[in-house]
Amino acid sequence: MQAIIVHAPHDLRIEEIPTAELAPHQLKVQIKAGGICGSDLHYYHHGGFGTVRIKQPMVLGHEVSGVVSAMGEAVQDIAAGTRIAVSPSHPCGVCRYCQEGKQN
Ligand SMILES: [Zn+2]
Repeated sequence: MQAIIVHAPHDLRIEEIPTAELAPHQLKVQIKAGGICGSDLHYYHHGGFGTVRIKQPMVLGHEVSGVVSAMGEAVQDIAAGTRIAVSPSHPCGVCRYCQEGKQN
């Protein structure tokens, strides 16, 4: 797939990157739209923010939506063609908010 990769401030490149095989509980999404987050702008303009700095080429664009194009073998409740928005966060699963179903 194609990705926008920041190599350094003001150095964005569109590159082909490999896609991994689908794990049993994963979805493959054909991206239809993406937002530009404030952190993306910081990486582009300043190479990061605070102590968070670009240390190696990094794919930008974590606010995306699209259409499910394939499902892992264990996915049964989502069909190809379903429109989805991607949550870029990685919930811990153990904090109070996660326990209350508020993983975002
Ligand atoms: Zn949590």
